[in-house]
Amino acid sequence: MNSVLIGASTTMASMPTSAEHLALAHSAQLRGVNLSYGEKPVLRQLDWQLLPGQVIGLLGRNGAGKTTLLETLLGLREPSSGEVQLFGQPAQRLDDAVRARIGYVPQQSTLFEAFTARQLLAYFKSFYPRWNEAKVEGLLSRWELPLDQQIGRLSGGQQQRLSIVRALAHDPDLLVLDEPVASLDPVGRRDFLRELVEQVLERGTTVVFSTHILSDLERVAFNVAFLREGRIALQAPLDELQEQLRVGTGTPAELAALQQRLQAELLRRTPLDAGRERWLLRLPQAPLAGEAARELPAMNLEDLFMELS
Ligand code: ADP
Repeated sequence: MNSVLIGASTTMASMPTSAEHLALAHSAQLRGVNLSYGEKPVLRQLDWQLLPGQVIGLLGRNGAGKTTLLETLLGLREPSSGEVQLFGQPAQRLDDAVRARIGYVPQQSTLFEAFTARQLLAYFKSFYPRWNEAKVEGLLSRWELPLDQQIGRLSGGQQQRLSIVRALAHDPDLLVLDEPVASLDPVGRRDFLRELVEQVLERGTTVVFSTHILSDLERVAFNVAFLREGRIALQAPLDELQEQLRVGTGTPAELAALQQRLQAELLRRTPLDAGRERWLLRLPQAPLAGEAARELPAMNLEDLFMELS
């Protein structure tokens, strides 16, 4: 699309006062990250912060770079430049204590196919000082996972659930899930994600999960981050985005008047025919929002995704 993303504003907490504070205050912190596969740039000067207790849905089209970003965040891929920190440590050189605070559910895990679920969990338990047996047993029985069948013979959805049980078992402080519901029945996807998030909310766990399916986010993700053209184009609470983002069309003069009247921030403008343009605007918080809402209709999730990804 021939459009320009003008603002990349976020609604983050107040700025920390020193570099040290900055590192410790975040569960994860990426600064100026670049990563290419051969000639193909995937992450471009990407900045991103995950704050403790945030639940973030990472949205982007297929191929936008979500898996690459999550792997880079976890220190599994080395960026060509930039800085990635987890709990204040460089992601490529984490000590065991920080490693034990992280849970990761990859998109596909084909390891351990000859193990049973029981063997797999016993194996992982031996690595972690903290292991929540009651949680493991509760999830295994609620999700009806067969414990004594070879993992290779479980369905894709069952394997994914087992991978999630494994990632939750040591009560991580940061839980990273790459398309965690991809193999699940579409009907149950959102409810399952919601249950998953509820599992970790009371501990204040930071959760980030990627998806390209919008309905996964409804009632699950408190924050959404849009990965577009190698950067986090926008991150904000989902309900706030739905309240504040609007699309309008007209001439540049009409835009100027509208912006002034509504005090709206221009996020993107796309040229149309005959000197007209299409704008993506962000309204200020109430009280002006009420007036603006009558002029520019609200967007549903599909529209939001189309505009931002
Ligand atoms: P997403 O998870 O958003 O679908 P990915 O991170 O998997 O995106 O991929 C981003 C882009 O990088 C895609 O164009 C993909 O084809 C390419 N890509 C991913 N992994 C590799 C790799 N190991 N080598 C080369 N290209 C890759």
